[in-house]
Amino acid sequence: MELMGLCQICGKPSVLHTCMLCGSNVCADCFDAEHGICIRCKN
Ligand SMILES: [Zn+2]
Ligand SMILES: [Zn+2]
Repeated sequence: MELMGLCQICGKPSVLHTCMLCGSNVCADCFDAEHGICIRCKN
């Protein structure tokens, strides 16, 4: 199921992915699909 909304990191409207670590909903650009986490948690 796809979730549309505003990315919680860059703020752009997009299909969102949920970070497994912090639970943030972020766009594909701000999401590391390989690890299932956002770029904030990756850094
Ligand atoms: Zn983003
Ligand atoms: Zn995160």
